[in-house]
Amino acid sequence: MPLRFILDIRRSDQIDFDLWFQSVNAGRTLTVGGFLLAFATLWITLTLFTTTEASRAMHVAIATFLSIGIACLWHGRRRERRTLTRSGEWLILAVAIVWMFLSVDEAVHRSYGQVEFIIGTLALAMLRFMTPRTAALVFTLFAVLYLLILWRHDQLHLTPINSGLLFCIFAFMMSVGIYNSKVLEFRNQLLVSLLNAQNQQLTTLALRDPLTGLPNRRYFDEFLAHYWQYEDSADQPITLILLDIDHFKAFNDRFGHPAGDDCLRRVAELLQGELRSSASCCRLGGEEFAALLPGTEEEEGLVVARRLRERVETDSQVTVSLGVATTTPSRQSIEAFYVTADQALYAAKGRGRNKVVAA
Ligand code: GH3
Ligand code: MG
Ligand code: MG
Repeated sequence: MPLRFILDIRRSDQIDFDLWFQSVNAGRTLTVGGFLLAFATLWITLTLFTTTEASRAMHVAIATFLSIGIACLWHGRRRERRTLTRSGEWLILAVAIVWMFLSVDEAVHRSYGQVEFIIGTLALAMLRFMTPRTAALVFTLFAVLYLLILWRHDQLHLTPINSGLLFCIFAFMMSVGIYNSKVLEFRNQLLVSLLNAQNQQLTTLALRDPLTGLPNRRYFDEFLAHYWQYEDSADQPITLILLDIDHFKAFNDRFGHPAGDDCLRRVAELLQGELRSSASCCRLGGEEFAALLPGTEEEEGLVVARRLRERVETDSQVTVSLGVATTTPSRQSIEAFYVTADQALYAAKGRGRNKVVAA
């Protein structure tokens, strides 16, 4: 049965709808309230010239209650007080409902009126936070009351009946559409933010070495690729320090792998502590680390490397050998640059380890 299908709201839908509603509805009701207030004010001005005292008093009352509702909503939203916000919303809606019935009554007497306009505005305001089930109830009630008023005045033949009734059906259908689309919209937003967060997490995981927390080989490769791609850095020097722990296999054999891991973490810590913030240090794999110093000439790079060697020697249980190479992207390819630094490291090992060698 289609109607049963439409009205059958799953609990999860309702929760999503409520969450969506909390965030956006108040603002829209505020707009509708402002719109109604402007309309009421216009009407009061017009009644100064044309209609009766009673009609004027009625519209002044409407404008007053609308203003109170708007004030509540405004303050509630600004101070994040939910009860006040809700009260403001309900007050605006209640005034709109009363206004609608008074207008129907008036329209019947004078055979023209603001009926459709008011119902329209009201429906727009209410549709924002109605589930299809509530909408069915509310608009059926509207239709019945509407008919009752016209019947009481013996005016059932008037054309507003048709438009009014049609509007109720239309409004109900609209609420179903809005409800469904809002639930969907909310879920999409939720999904997108979830995916974004997970993506960010994955990127972090993919670029970081879990043992030391340093960036990994992939980050190192991407860093260099970026530096080489970036036009402005074509003639900017960059220094690469390759660092390898000496006799680490022996260290592991002697003290065990867990102690070896601690040692790797210690070296990573010292490396990070010795470099300035613009430099990047990475764990390339095993007991091999790299420091990338963009905008740094060889002399300065050597100073950094020597300081690193000393620091590791005094503050950890191992020593390290370091190879230093400097180039500019326009002079050398990434691969050649890396090979140069690696050869320098190899030379440091050959010269007895615990040394710094420049390419
Ligand atoms: P050299 O001075 O020539 O560099 O000698 P080495 O022993 O340091 O070099 P080698 O390449 O022979 O050994 C590297 C050792 O590093 C072997 C391996 O057990 C150890 N290693 C690599 N990754 C890890 C790790 O994640 N944790 C621990 N504890 N040890 C590791
Ligand atoms: Mg080694
Ligand atoms: Mg090695």
